[in-house]
Amino acid sequence: MKPLTVYECEWCKKLFRTPDRHQCKKNPALKNCFSCKHLRGWDEYKPEPPAPDCAAGCCEDWDIDNIKWRNYDMQCEGWEEGKYDWMDPNGDRRIRVID
Ligand SMILES: [Zn+2]
Ligand SMILES: [Zn+2]
Repeated sequence: MKPLTVYECEWCKKLFRTPDRHQCKKNPALKNCFSCKHLRGWDEYKPEPPAPDCAAGCCEDWDIDNIKWRNYDMQCEGWEEGKYDWMDPNGDRRIRVID
């Protein structure tokens, strides 16, 4: 079988065939509620997929369609960097070859 090169998103760990096409909602550079230290969980009262429930209090006006329309660029006002196991200290995009 021909080896297949895939690109692994350093934040969400999803695999992609094409680099640079994926807008990751967990990218800390976006300073959105998905990577905010104050994220409590997911708002169950909003439709699927769940919208973030952020204790910084900026989420009330954001439904998931709004968030997607802005490419997850929410600019959470109370954003502070949290600590997550998906954060890569080197910040390098990892490339995996599956064969
Ligand atoms: Zn991603
Ligand atoms: Zn927030």
